[in-house]
Amino acid sequence: MLTLQQLNLARERVLELLNNAQVPVTAAEADKIEVTDFGLRDFCRFGLQQLDYVDSDVFYAGEIVMLPNQICPEHHHPTVENEMPKEQTFRCRWGTVYLYVPGEETPEPKAIIPPERAQYFTVRHEIVLRPGQQYTIPPNTLHWFQAGPEGAVITEFSTGSRRAAEVFTDPGIYKVAQMVTQGLKIVLLGAPGSGKGTQSRLLSTKYGTVHLSMGNMLREEVAKGSRIGSRVAVMMSKGEMVPDSVVFGILDEKLTMYNSYILDGFPRTLSQAEYLDKRLSELNTEVDVVFLLELPLEEIIERLSGRRVCSKCSRTYHVRFYQSDTCNCGGKLVQRADDNPEAVRRRVEVYNQEIGPLREFYSRQGKLWEIDGSKGMELSFGDISRILDEKILPEKRKRAEKPN
Ligand code: AMP
Repeated sequence: MLTLQQLNLARERVLELLNNAQVPVTAAEADKIEVTDFGLRDFCRFGLQQLDYVDSDVFYAGEIVMLPNQICPEHHHPTVENEMPKEQTFRCRWGTVYLYVPGEETPEPKAIIPPERAQYFTVRHEIVLRPGQQYTIPPNTLHWFQAGPEGAVITEFSTGSRRAAEVFTDPGIYKVAQMVTQGLKIVLLGAPGSGKGTQSRLLSTKYGTVHLSMGNMLREEVAKGSRIGSRVAVMMSKGEMVPDSVVFGILDEKLTMYNSYILDGFPRTLSQAEYLDKRLSELNTEVDVVFLLELPLEEIIERLSGRRVCSKCSRTYHVRFYQSDTCNCGGKLVQRADDNPEAVRRRVEVYNQEIGPLREFYSRQGKLWEIDGSKGMELSFGDISRILDEKILPEKRKRAEKPN
């Protein structure tokens, strides 16, 4: 997975390259750019950026944008019964593309085949595409390509959907497309332990949104020993809410710093939700969507009692599934001061008091989606992503395209 910084940088470079190619894109389209590193974590060498114009079951059109020397590894689109075979035409708009397909091996290829993965680049017949040149790849045909030293912009027209099956020769590859979605504002509601932190992390990776966890920001103040921190430490360890004046101060600073974010742990009360709406309308914007993660009480208690948190990156684990006391990032895993039975009981009580009016507030605005949080991390994330991809983002784009 790419970091937020890499995603933002890739997006900027893509817009630059599209501009070089004189391909106009609207702000809403710029929000749809997808980026992948093919799971290889070597983004400068292996990576691809895509912008879809049309993607239906029968037809695809869009731009492929490649940063200098980036490679799209070898793959083919197997024909699947009852689905349209995928025939693709690549037309180079800007830069140079070295495309490889089955046929006689080109003796001195322009592309640099990565030596450690050479066995996964089996087709070696070279086709060089420069602006205005195009090539059609028949269905089921192995191919891979690399951009020249300036990068490349390639328009793709094809039968079948872009999301048609794609089989990579290299078994180590999994293609996860990530998006940098500008201006997306998500609120996550749910009891303590309902998985808000985990879902926020997945969401920020996929959509390029910043994770703003009020609990984490308050804990940072406590850890720093700041004036705010010493004021709220005891309240937090007992599971009590900290005063609005404190959380509003922290929130205000973040709302002016970021454009796309997930609010986790804010708002927690109706008055906080009203405050958020007021602040956002002053900034000429609004919350796009609210997800409420639902989970039975017994499961909440079970999750919180075994929860361990990384003291460095705040990632959470459960002792039942992860026995080590060290996080993947090297940080030490600790139990949160408020994950003791007494504080958990109090936090759940506070949550139950406040969630009714909040639920009502956001459902009246038509923004609330209830998510079954007991399905497991991936399935709940699948539900959330589907709502974002199929409902929220298309509507947001439509609104952005409407002339004022
Ligand atoms: P969390 O990490 O979301 O479980 O939050 C931990 C603790 O931080 C809560 O139990 C509260 O003491 C405090 N806190 C977090 N968010 C808020 C909020 N929006 N309003 C008041 N207190 C909060």
